[in-house]
Amino acid sequence: MLDIFGIVIHGGAGTILKENLTPELEIEYQEKLTESIQAGYDILKDGGTSLNAVQKAVNVMEDSALFNAGKGAVFTNEGTNEQDATIMCGATLNTGGVAGVQHVKNPIDLARAVMDKSEHVLFGSEGAEQFARLHNIELVDDKYFYTEKRWQQLEKAREKEQKDSSDFSMLDHSDHIDEGKHGTVGAVALDKDGNLAAATSSGGMTNKKFGRIGDSAIPGVGTYANNKTCAVSTTGHGEYFMRCVTAYDVSAMMEYQKLSLKDATERAIHTKLTELGGTGGLIAIDSKGNIALPFNTPGMYRGYLLDEQDKPFVKIFKEDK
Ligand code: ASP
Repeated sequence: MLDIFGIVIHGGAGTILKENLTPELEIEYQEKLTESIQAGYDILKDGGTSLNAVQKAVNVMEDSALFNAGKGAVFTNEGTNEQDATIMCGATLNTGGVAGVQHVKNPIDLARAVMDKSEHVLFGSEGAEQFARLHNIELVDDKYFYTEKRWQQLEKAREKEQKDSSDFSMLDHSDHIDEGKHGTVGAVALDKDGNLAAATSSGGMTNKKFGRIGDSAIPGVGTYANNKTCAVSTTGHGEYFMRCVTAYDVSAMMEYQKLSLKDATERAIHTKLTELGGTGGLIAIDSKGNIALPFNTPGMYRGYLLDEQDKPFVKIFKEDK
């Protein structure tokens, strides 16, 4: 067993400005992020697996209405909640994902079941829920996901769309960052056995249409883990991450170009994603316990706790260094 272990989490990237968060809400975010980090860290500290740690950390955020995943998932244009999630094991390259699920309380648990209990990698919508029923994954009524804040965000987005009279205003990335659509959650971890894992769970983007699937559902894009290199979870405007194949790209830059975690993640976000016009960020940890949390938005809910540290570090705004 190694002494090096640790967990990094995110709760979404976007236009998160101090002036837009009340002090009370800021504290609520800090507390929930801390709880999530601690839940994953405790598993690692006791010699548990990185897979269990990232799943648990994500569960904590999925169960909170603060984030765009699970309970706080955003609404689609039709007023439904359609969620995406992926988990990946760096030791085996096994992975499981779900796309567009409407009634799964904790989509990351279903992704884990897909990885562990099926011969497939990615299940979509009704089929995924059928698989959930077979494996006793908790399903809930639509009402569970209703929150006033998310509904207001949808109404605002629809109004703006009508004003712009554009059918695809969700593809305008300024809408994405300005309408408070951030809040996807993710975790990456290194356990005492030297195994890496990554997990991401998301309600996608407010006002998304026609069965739109985001980067959080797709292994290699929103989530990737490989013991040879690193574990990565992304958040931001998914269409751009899909075009950049961001999570795998970080790993590939490390494996083939021998870049450090810092250089590979900086290039992925500040060069490749930014040059394409995408907004967002990622969290990553490598097999030596180095971490990186780059983003090109005003803020990203984020935090970490590594082997020798005694309490979680939680940050929200860009200026929180
Ligand atoms: N990446 C997510 C998506 O595009 C959204 C987010 O991270 O805010 O579905």
